[in-house]
Amino acid sequence: MDLTVISTYRCNSKCQMCYVWKHPSDPKEEVSIKTLEKLPGGFDNVNVSGGEPTLRNDLPEIIDVLYPKGRIIEISSNGLSADKIVPIIKKYSNIKVRFSLEGDEITNNAIRGEKDGYNKKVRGLQLLKEAGGSDLGFAFVIQDENADQLVKVYELTQKLGVELATSTLHNAWQFHKNDNYFYERLSVARNVEGLITKMLQTYSIKNWFRAYLNLGLIQKILGHDRLIKCTAGSDFMFVDPWSDVFACNVRKDLLVGNLEKQLWEEIINSEEMKGKLSEIEKCTQNCWMVTTARTAMRSKIIHSFPKLGPFIWVLKNKVKVSLGNKVHFDNDIDYNDVKPTPYIKRDSYLDKTIKKDLQKKDDPHYIAESYLNE
Ligand code: SF4
Repeated sequence: MDLTVISTYRCNSKCQMCYVWKHPSDPKEEVSIKTLEKLPGGFDNVNVSGGEPTLRNDLPEIIDVLYPKGRIIEISSNGLSADKIVPIIKKYSNIKVRFSLEGDEITNNAIRGEKDGYNKKVRGLQLLKEAGGSDLGFAFVIQDENADQLVKVYELTQKLGVELATSTLHNAWQFHKNDNYFYERLSVARNVEGLITKMLQTYSIKNWFRAYLNLGLIQKILGHDRLIKCTAGSDFMFVDPWSDVFACNVRKDLLVGNLEKQLWEEIINSEEMKGKLSEIEKCTQNCWMVTTARTAMRSKIIHSFPKLGPFIWVLKNKVKVSLGNKVHFDNDIDYNDVKPTPYIKRDSYLDKTIKKDLQKKDDPHYIAESYLNE
């Protein structure tokens, strides 16, 4: 159903919750256009991500190759170089673009280690709008440092006429990070309720289902089981900058092949893949990554439709909110059950110079033994 292409691990942000920028890939070794041409068509959502995809000089060519292969093509960017996306938007106005934004000017720039990042993103999205972009928005990683700004950022997106995607802290090979833990799970979770209510108050069907996605984020933040069973592997795959193909973007043991060396069909029909699918069935990670969560919410038959569970929740709560009633979060969420969490401080890298570790093809790319979400 869905695919993410992690086009590069080079990044010009210095986020405190994602260490990709500390471990850049060698541009000479990054997944090539020729390799991407091997992907089949018929995906629902293809996300071109990073690192920072605009650091790939051949991003327009990557989009040319992937555009016919998916119903929705998405670029996930830090938004520091919107000008590089303008020609793409002029060619394909319906490309989905999300710029990472983590709060107000001070908060965003501190969390993401970006000098003047906030202003560049806000101006950049405007630039893409003027170029004719029709599916633009910000993406916000909910964490202790910005949870109280979530509703304000949502209101900003409403004012600007753009979308807001949300996710939260995870440990994953995709982030080269295994110590992302909430300081205060309960207060972070409670802040998400305001956003859910606001989203249900709109007339946007997309927002109503995002409200459900955010309900899943509350469960994840508190350390509860997933709202919906994971369908990674059968409905979702990832290609990393070295063309390695993974069935999941959290567990590095779910590596299933290499697109440079193999054909896509070979990878997905392999014995290796069958074995990994049965491991995914038994996976106990407390994970609600936006990529796999939004896929899991959708019908396997008509991909643009939701599964019955999210549909019923949305219907019930949309009616409630429309009648002026409150969403009773305590009916859906057991706030008395908050998993313990170790306290591991995240620091801002704004104004800090850190030595980067260039990763070569033969290196062990994901250093931690396993990437754990509890
Ligand atoms: S639940 Fe397990 S298999 Fe599914 S995305 Fe999370 S870590 Fe991967």
